[in-house]
Amino acid sequence: MKNLFDIREKHIVITGAGGVLCGQMAKVLGSAGAKVAVLDLNESAADKVADQIRKQGGTAVGVKCNVLDKVTLEQAREKIHTELGKIDILINGAGGNKKEATTSPQMPFFDMPADAIRFVFDLNFIGTLLPCQVFGKDMVEQDGGVILNVSSMNAFRPLTKIAAYSAAKAAIGNFTQWLAVHMCQNYSKNIRVNAIAPGFFLTEQNRFLLTDEKTGELTARGKTIIDHTPMSRFGEADELSGTVLWLLSDAAKFVTGISVPVDGGFSAFSGV
Ligand code: NAD
Repeated sequence: MKNLFDIREKHIVITGAGGVLCGQMAKVLGSAGAKVAVLDLNESAADKVADQIRKQGGTAVGVKCNVLDKVTLEQAREKIHTELGKIDILINGAGGNKKEATTSPQMPFFDMPADAIRFVFDLNFIGTLLPCQVFGKDMVEQDGGVILNVSSMNAFRPLTKIAAYSAAKAAIGNFTQWLAVHMCQNYSKNIRVNAIAPGFFLTEQNRFLLTDEKTGELTARGKTIIDHTPMSRFGEADELSGTVLWLLSDAAKFVTGISVPVDGGFSAFSGV
């Protein structure tokens, strides 16, 4: 069984890895023996995670890059080739929501600025597609690889308030299926494309919606989420690790084109 999950020596690129969820993934994969390229728009956050991996005895390089800018992605690819080698695995973690694209008493749907909606859609969807174009080339050249996209609960059924973020994550689920088929039919039967759909994890991108900025108490929305999560709590970043390791390794060798919920039962519960 142990060998099934072996990812030692694999070269893994993780976008958004300066952040909470993907930073944790980077550290877990680094400690499992993978060589990790930690990509983030925030250079110091990327360097910090890479540094932590190296201090644990792993191999990692921090790389500043913007997932919306193909030039910086190509530059990142060159740097990774020099420092680690060709890329076997890509995790598309960069993503998030924006206050201005979220309805509220101050921001009615009718006034939501197109720029803010476009920003959220681009960051999540285009910011997933472009890295697949750039780093996927290595997988085609090597006749094998794995892409793991990061979807969300709102991809299955939209959540209130966050129209653009829900639509963009739904697009990621759809694109995951599309690219899984496209890679097999046109490039290699050994390139797999899947997604994880995390439930609710308290991080910087949703803290303003789930907790009160002043008191730290749960908001009404935060309470509703807990009430609709059969396990009655938010997830911990490390609770994505097992599913990620499964999908990246040979343990999931015949699995492609799916989105796996990791959500404490949220998507299974009708609320009644
Ligand atoms: P986070 O804000 O902690 O991390 C996101 C990271 O992406 C940040 O470090 C940020 O600097 C980086 N980033 C933003 N724009 C970028 C760009 N243009 N180019 C490169 N990097 C960029 O968020 P998180 O909660 O750790 O979320 C990680 C992923 O998980 C996101 O795709 C998010 O949508 C998804 N997700 C989160 C939750 C949750 O409950 N937190 C639930 C479902 C899905």
